[in-house]
Amino acid sequence: MEVLKRALAALVLLSVLSSCFYVFADEGNKGENEKCKRIALTFDDGPCAKYDRRILDILDKYKIKATFFMVGENIEREPETAREIVSRGHEIGNHTYSHKKLGRLGRNELESEISRTESIIERVCGKKAVLFRPPEGYVSDTVSSVVTSDGYRLVLWSIDTLDWKGTSSDAICQKVMKGAKDGAIILCHDYIFGKSNTADAMEKFIPRLINAGYEFVTVSELLSDGTSSVNIALVPQVLWTATLLRVCSSVTL
Ligand SMILES: [Zn+2]
Repeated sequence: MEVLKRALAALVLLSVLSSCFYVFADEGNKGENEKCKRIALTFDDGPCAKYDRRILDILDKYKIKATFFMVGENIEREPETAREIVSRGHEIGNHTYSHKKLGRLGRNELESEISRTESIIERVCGKKAVLFRPPEGYVSDTVSSVVTSDGYRLVLWSIDTLDWKGTSSDAICQKVMKGAKDGAIILCHDYIFGKSNTADAMEKFIPRLINAGYEFVTVSELLSDGTSSVNIALVPQVLWTATLLRVCSSVTL
């Protein structure tokens, strides 16, 4: 009988301990999920109604705001789409007038690419863009100095979905989930030559990120807390290394 009582007591104790452990473990996971993690979704090269219609509907469906880096000549071609993007609460950035390779441009031509688009954005959308993203992420000391002296913040990305290559929606989703972390910036395109799987991928990675506790914000919102005040923080490692090498080699020469 004594043995039975002890066994019963041990069972009760074990049960209490395991339920405590379960609660602690559960609390731990809940804390991790509830911790506010912010992420910015960005689209380059539009506006383009063909893709933007569905992209905007998906963003509305999940009640999230994104940032669109627009090309000046595309805004001229589709002003209504540009206005629609703004009216639905998304942020706009400057992505040059004609998407030329910036490394081949002189300072004056570079300034013209930026200022021309700046005027178009102000005229068509009625607001000034404060963010600039160089085509193909090309950064040099000239680009950096022109962009910042024009009052822009230079913005690159930390997750490259490679959606412009016709990458499958599953592969895009995988890249996003692998690179997701607090402060990450996702690069997608709302203008692609050929078939785009971007919208299908959004339907996969957006709910997964929301379930993982991410809050989608615009790039300006992401930068507004001051933790990413230095643009270097937004430059992908490889590009930043290339920039450093370029700067170093120009110093050496
Ligand atoms: Zn681009």
